[in-house]
Amino acid sequence: MTWSFSLGRILGSELRVHVTFFLLLAWVGFAAYSSGGLPAAVENLIFVLALFACVVAHEFGHALMARRYGIKTPDITLLPIGGLARLERMPEKPMQEVWVALAGPAVNIVIWLILVVLGAGMPLETMAQIDSTGPGLMNRLAYLNLLLAAFNMIPAFPMDGGRVFRALLCLKMDRVKATRVAALAGQIVAVAFGFWGLSVGNPILVLIAVFVFVAANSESHDVAMRSVVRRVLARDAMITEFHALSPTDTLATAAQAVIHTTQHEFPVLDSAGALLGFVTRDRLFTALTGDIPRSDPATSIMVTDIPQVQLACGLETVLDGLHKGAPAIAVCTQAGNMVGYITRENIGELMVIQGR
Ligand SMILES: [Zn+2]
Repeated sequence: MTWSFSLGRILGSELRVHVTFFLLLAWVGFAAYSSGGLPAAVENLIFVLALFACVVAHEFGHALMARRYGIKTPDITLLPIGGLARLERMPEKPMQEVWVALAGPAVNIVIWLILVVLGAGMPLETMAQIDSTGPGLMNRLAYLNLLLAAFNMIPAFPMDGGRVFRALLCLKMDRVKATRVAALAGQIVAVAFGFWGLSVGNPILVLIAVFVFVAANSESHDVAMRSVVRRVLARDAMITEFHALSPTDTLATAAQAVIHTTQHEFPVLDSAGALLGFVTRDRLFTALTGDIPRSDPATSIMVTDIPQVQLACGLETVLDGLHKGAPAIAVCTQAGNMVGYITRENIGELMVIQGR
């Protein structure tokens, strides 16, 4: 989710907005302006901001319920389909996952009830005019909260209903298989939404379809990867045959090493075998195309803050380190000698070999 930017922190979570959320806002605003002029556009702007607040409240429903089980939510991203609360980890027990998933739609039901108590009517014709100012702000918001709750309860990934569905499947089968079933349901729903959107000429429905399809697929992939990661140790994944550089090697020597090996990352080891850092092919190429003399020490372009793990460390820790941008993770003995290292590329190979 790189197409998003931060709006700041609320209740311990960073609130991010995906650019396509603005497409939704723009489409709603444009539709109102072309049918009702400026006053309609202003009312719709207020409406959209209120809707935005309801979506945020929905996501905080998930985040606050997750916190009850000791799980933090580092960020919440708003998408046209409602939003994604990225939990630091998934609840261990399926029933906890059910409660976390249900907490979001429950917030929309509560908002709906409050709006009804405050006097929002529910005439059926509001349904057909949800994108115009005709039915009045309160009625539209009441309907939209019901729709948000209903849409999110569709039992297909990545909707909340899909999570409930997956959690219930987990009681009968393993998590990877359960996710695959829920994700497949999500993709079937996405295709149906896509056709519906195309047949009525509604670009928002098509957009939702694309999102649901992609999200269902990536969740399935992510869960499969995490299950591999959980049973593999650093020792099983590390590269043990490699060419290392010494602190006295020059850029020219490093360049020779790039040509004579298939490595993209070269550890720099001192005479005792302790790791000083990594010289990467990318950094070397940048240095060679610049004005830096080739007789300069290779250590001058070395990445020094390389995370180090023990042989029996789980691969999850390694993945976290790579996610934070390290070119490699060093695997060291208790005495501090590097015996191997792990890169993104060899984790990719491991997935192919052990993934399915
Ligand atoms: Zn939700």
